[in-house]
Amino acid sequence: MRQYTKEVIKKIIPEYILQVRRNYLANKRHREGPKRRKLLKFEMHLADHCNLNCKGCNHFSPLVVKEKFLDAGIFKKDCERIAGLSGGLLEGIRFMGGELLLHKNVVDILNTGRKYFPKATLDIVTNGILLPKQPKEFWETCGKNGIHIHISKYPIKINNDEIDGLARQYNVKILRLSANTGLQWHEMKLDVKGGQNMEENFRLCPQANNCINLYEGKLYTCPTIAYIQYLNEYHGENFVVTEEDYIDIYKARSMDEILDFLCKPVQFCRYCDIKKWNATVEWGVSKKERKEWIEE
Ligand code: SF4
Ligand code: SF4
Repeated sequence: MRQYTKEVIKKIIPEYILQVRRNYLANKRHREGPKRRKLLKFEMHLADHCNLNCKGCNHFSPLVVKEKFLDAGIFKKDCERIAGLSGGLLEGIRFMGGELLLHKNVVDILNTGRKYFPKATLDIVTNGILLPKQPKEFWETCGKNGIHIHISKYPIKINNDEIDGLARQYNVKILRLSANTGLQWHEMKLDVKGGQNMEENFRLCPQANNCINLYEGKLYTCPTIAYIQYLNEYHGENFVVTEEDYIDIYKARSMDEILDFLCKPVQFCRYCDIKKWNATVEWGVSKKERKEWIEE
């Protein structure tokens, strides 16, 4: 419904007015930092690894050495807990990875999400490579549960005509994410010394309290902290994550406590150097080099 409303607004209001509004909101966010959310939304991995492996991936997927899949039973338990804390009210879930379509049990996981959160926005984020191979059951599940599919745009060949045909057949909304233009890419490097200003980083960070990740029963304000273990393990680094950097959904006493936690800087933010993050580098396949993620 929200997507439909957005599309109607886009048709009525000229693009330049929408751009002025977007700039105003971005500047406001930079001045004031991320606001406390009214309802929780989160992203989650169905697979930590990926079949594309982009250079500098901010979920560290190219560095995942051993395939790692979400346990559908654990997800059910996590949903039960979050639904209990939130009274079943959630803004939304983005099912992603890595590449989520590598998971053999996507359908069950999507059905579980919808069962516990009947009113939430449910989205899939995929690179699209495996979409044409998905069985009928996958498309039917997306159609009946109102799950939208976001395809991130990369300069790779995928069969868009076939995907659009399937989406039409099963009444599934497809959106193509233009954040990555296909030629330009983001570089979000870390300062190994942790000498940066955590409050300022958090205030300027596009991920903070926005790309919240649920991983192994814990909520992180961004994916960088949730998956940093892969950079640590692959390159022998020591980016430290402590209990102060996330909130455990089984220890939190209320949804208020969770929402309060997620909108504040954490110690880990000292490793980011947001002002030097570059959104205009050329996209490429990862060589898994240290310099893709770490300032040298
Ligand atoms: S497709 Fe997405 S998850 Fe996969 S490597 Fe690229 S950026 Fe990372
Ligand atoms: S650690 Fe802090 S500054 Fe770095 S990406 Fe996460 S929220 Fe942003």
